[in-house]
Amino acid sequence: MSSTVANQPLEIVVFPMLSDNYGFLIHDPASGATAVVDPAEAAPTLAACTARGWRLTHILNTHHHGDHVGGNLDLKAKTGCTIIGPAYDRDRIPGIDVAVDEASGADFAGHHAQVFFVPGHTRGHIAYWFADNRALFCGDTLFSLGCGRLFEGTPAQMWSSLLKLRALPDETRVYCAHEYTQSNCRFALTAEPENAALAKQADRIATTRAAGGFTVPSTLAVEKACNPFLRADQPDLRKRFGGPGSSDADVLGAIRAAKDRF
Ligand code: ZN
Ligand code: FE
Repeated sequence: MSSTVANQPLEIVVFPMLSDNYGFLIHDPASGATAVVDPAEAAPTLAACTARGWRLTHILNTHHHGDHVGGNLDLKAKTGCTIIGPAYDRDRIPGIDVAVDEASGADFAGHHAQVFFVPGHTRGHIAYWFADNRALFCGDTLFSLGCGRLFEGTPAQMWSSLLKLRALPDETRVYCAHEYTQSNCRFALTAEPENAALAKQADRIATTRAAGGFTVPSTLAVEKACNPFLRADQPDLRKRFGGPGSSDADVLGAIRAAKDRF
């Protein structure tokens, strides 16, 4: 059986940075190319590469915040890697070489990532979807059991961004950029106390964290069933957070506001 490069699985490694950020290495065994998604810092990124004998060739940035691009220039100086980031925010991505959008997508070592424009947390946020590997890198747009704060966008923008991600297959692995899951879970349980799938997931998360494990990646199946921000169009959440005439985006906005106060 023959296979093309694009069909060979990518190796994906999760590693922690700063207090609660995750970086992700994406390694293509066929070519040896290695990308890091959202390097907050250069040193832990290089250490994660060196530990596996991998050479960094690419950076993929989802948005301009310092805890996602902080390692860009240092890594580029040390490795000569190519920096790929959102075209809409090209002026805010240090060292950007390749500006991408939904039309262009992003190419990494013969693998094509679909790019989703997902504003809300920031005005230029993008997510990368490697369909063949069922891997979604969504930065600070979608978290396990949460979503990013609305620093530069409206609830309507965030809701339409979340709907793009929710349309992906259930088995999608959701590589979100922070370990916020347990605190998100505490809020989610107050938002949807009657959600049995969420209660079960809360137990799983507690077990994982007690053992020092990562809750990332999550899966889209779990998020669709348990994440209140992806479920703003569900009757129970609408009843609790919506009023007469509220749109789904209004409900999302009310859930986000309640989480901000939580
Ligand atoms: Zn951010
Ligand atoms: Fe962040």
